[in-house]
Amino acid sequence: MLMSSEPNLTRRRSLRNTADLIEAGLVAPEGRIALDQVAARTAIALTPAIVDLIQSGDDPIARQFVPSAAELHTAPEERTDPIGDEAYSPVKGIVHRYPDRVLLKPIMVCPVYCRFCFRREAVGDADGTLTAAEMDAALAYVAGRPELREIIVTGGDPFMLPPARLAALVARVANIPHVEVLRFHTRIPVADPERVTDALADALKTESELAVWVSVHANHARELSPAARLALRRLADAGLPLVSQTVLLRGVNDSADALEDLFRALVRNRVRPYYLHHPDLARGTAHFRLSIAEGQAIMRALRGRLTGIAQPTYVLDIPGGAGKVPLMPAWWDQERGEVEDWQGGKHRYPPG
Ligand SMILES: *Cc1c(COP(=O)(O)O)cnc(C)c1O
Ligand code: SF4
Repeated sequence: MLMSSEPNLTRRRSLRNTADLIEAGLVAPEGRIALDQVAARTAIALTPAIVDLIQSGDDPIARQFVPSAAELHTAPEERTDPIGDEAYSPVKGIVHRYPDRVLLKPIMVCPVYCRFCFRREAVGDADGTLTAAEMDAALAYVAGRPELREIIVTGGDPFMLPPARLAALVARVANIPHVEVLRFHTRIPVADPERVTDALADALKTESELAVWVSVHANHARELSPAARLALRRLADAGLPLVSQTVLLRGVNDSADALEDLFRALVRNRVRPYYLHHPDLARGTAHFRLSIAEGQAIMRALRGRLTGIAQPTYVLDIPGGAGKVPLMPAWWDQERGEVEDWQGGKHRYPPG
């Protein structure tokens, strides 16, 4: 059975290099030289759960995880650290950009390596895991700043930590009186759903006042396999509020149809779509990007056809570290004193 809480000793291996990909038939042997160069720059991993979702070499799942020679091209506007994590990191493992919240990055490895990842040059490094002393220093930073209300645990993928370590983190954060919310960002319910065991869900529960939220990264409806849906159910049944983050990606989900299917599937599984991210300027990802105008046209199309609880906010993380801003299409024209409805009808609305 899938999803047993016992470790499964017959677990299949992840694919981690060009040879594995060729052997699995996911890349042609002629691609080897170029992809070895990609592999020298960025980590590669596809879990069995993800491999099982791939139906063809250019389907929306393959495009996200199978490396491509296009990644060897760096566009002039692209950056190693696109959203400026480094510049806003006061101590190892913490990114402090906003007054009320910080990122905590306890671990830098992931179950899969998304080819478009904004931290693609930082993830995959097993040495990036915080030592006990570094974790103490990171939590001391938060404990010493009463204005901080929320810790967002990211990485890497924090659900790669053993449940006992997650439980210890939850308990320590619950002891910082001014921290009200602990939010985990993870791709594991989709990428390696068997890791979402009862032990993991229990580790995130707390008797304290601390609110523990989970944000799930999902980009295509097909990622919500039966095993992924069971993982989400386990988290929701543990009482954890679930939200999602999606990256808008050319060739993956760049249509109102694809996003409608995804957002409906998320809501059916008790996940509230939270952010649709405009792709970041990470090096070697130009083939995934579309224009902000294209993204806004898709958001506009979704407005009329999709329930309000399935509508995320379309956001840009401003290159360099200035933070996230909404990129929602405008429905109100101040100059004309007009609002537009979802079918394109124009209506006067009194100014002032
Ligand atoms: C994205 C991000 C957050 C979280 O932003 P929300 O809008 O609260 O989801 C917090 N801190 C940093 C540094 C970030 O990059
Ligand atoms: S799981 Fe998240 S952090 Fe890891 S490679 Fe994918 S986008 Fe990057």
